[in-house]
Amino acid sequence: MSADIPPLVADRVSQKARDTLDLVKKFVEEECMPADAVARAQMEKQGQRWGVYPPVIDDLKAKAKKLGLWNIFLSKTHYAEGAGLTNLEYGLIAMILGKSSLASEAVNCAAPDTGNMEVLAKYGTDAQKKQWLAPLLDGTIRSAFLMTEPKVASSDAKNISLKMERQGNEYVLNGQKWWSSGAGDPRCKIYIVLGKTNPNAASAWEQHSVILVPAGTPGVKIERYLSVYGYDDAPHGHAEITFDNVRVPASSLVLGEGRGFEIIQGRLGPGRIHHAMRSLGSAERALELMIARVNDPNRKTFGKQLNQHGVIMEWIARSRMEIDAARLVVLNASIKIDETDAKGAQREIAAAKVMVPAMALQVIDRAVQSHGAAGVSQDTPLASMWAHMRTVRIADGPDEVHLQQMGRNENKRNQAILGKFEQQRERVRQKLREYGFEPKL
Ligand SMILES: Cc1cc2nc3c(=O)[nH]c(=O)nc-3n(C[C@H](O)[C@H](O)[C@H](O)COP(=O)(O)OP(=O)(O)OC[C@H]3O[C@@H](n4cnc5c(N)ncnc54)[C@H](O)[C@@H]3O)c2cc1C
Repeated sequence: MSADIPPLVADRVSQKARDTLDLVKKFVEEECMPADAVARAQMEKQGQRWGVYPPVIDDLKAKAKKLGLWNIFLSKTHYAEGAGLTNLEYGLIAMILGKSSLASEAVNCAAPDTGNMEVLAKYGTDAQKKQWLAPLLDGTIRSAFLMTEPKVASSDAKNISLKMERQGNEYVLNGQKWWSSGAGDPRCKIYIVLGKTNPNAASAWEQHSVILVPAGTPGVKIERYLSVYGYDDAPHGHAEITFDNVRVPASSLVLGEGRGFEIIQGRLGPGRIHHAMRSLGSAERALELMIARVNDPNRKTFGKQLNQHGVIMEWIARSRMEIDAARLVVLNASIKIDETDAKGAQREIAAAKVMVPAMALQVIDRAVQSHGAAGVSQDTPLASMWAHMRTVRIADGPDEVHLQQMGRNENKRNQAILGKFEQQRERVRQKLREYGFEPKL
């Protein structure tokens, strides 16, 4: 059995998924991982950071399409447009894709497009699907999701304040967004924007809506790109964008006024699990880099090769255990999504969203340490992997928000648990009396 399929889930993985997994592995190792360096070199050669992208990605996409490795993230359980795999099967594949910075895009499974395509597939009108979903599924355009704003605490999406006012057959948008990932890419043609249409709605959950805004609409201005620990993430980028009297037709609204929360909850669920899946791939790659480094015969300290120091063996062992355990958490969440949907799997998705990046950060950190100074330099992918993994603890909602929700739900069992404890105590008292003792509790 392939080491990429844990025995616990083996009977849920079809032959088609196994064949796809083998193909993806070969494609990632032989094509995508070497192309990572080509992409960096091409960006450098082009001499500018924005408005361009590395052409090597087009070659990879053409190869992936030919191999049938395309849109595999859309599960057969919920969508007709995908490649006919389940979320669990895609999970196993995404872990391999996470080993290369280009692989997910090469097979049209990259964030934020995956979540955006799911929004359009699930909630879009036929016209919206034709105009935006079709080219996204085809990989000819890219997209961005604009929720977070600089002036409000956006972990609580009820705070989102960008104004969307209906005027005749149009909506007029005014406000500011930031951390709009992907907006720097010249192929990014559509923004999926969360804003406020109904500030007076009685429920704070019914004041927001989602609207589609073509990039380059008059009044939309990219002010600057934010960096992640100094990385600009070009050509993708994280943009700060202002909206100054931006007009879009009323038909650009998705699902209806006041339905914004319904949409973002549906969007962020799968997006979070996809991040967790790719994060496992990064952790696995970091462990491979660590093993390669400590087995380098030229690097000895105090008379021993690095692989002869006990602490380093412990790092390797702990990393293996932690990756394997986290993988089961992610696969469990994927199975729950397959059996219900993202809402039904809320608890399992939150657990994966919190546990996996924390685990991956630790594994990458050990790999950095085992490389010494080289680990924090540009000579290995580890520094960039650590920086990006750190952001996953914030993006798509910070850890604390997921933990608060999980804690609250778990604590709802308190009445039942307290009642059970009291019953158990009474049984102990009775038993003590039966044996002639006077209970003291
Ligand atoms: C690399 C990257 C990419 C991103 N991409 C996108 C994107 O494409 N589109 C988009 O819209 N946004 C994106 N974001 C933004 C991200 O989703 C937000 O930063 C996140 O939701 C937190 O919002 P905030 O920054 O306003 O933090 P705030 O809401 O100000 O929160 C600050 C901190 O407060 C703490 N906190 C919040 N709530 C609680 C609580 N209930 N209990 C305890 N502590 C709490 C947390 O530690 C949190 O980090 C991205 C962020 C990063 C770093």
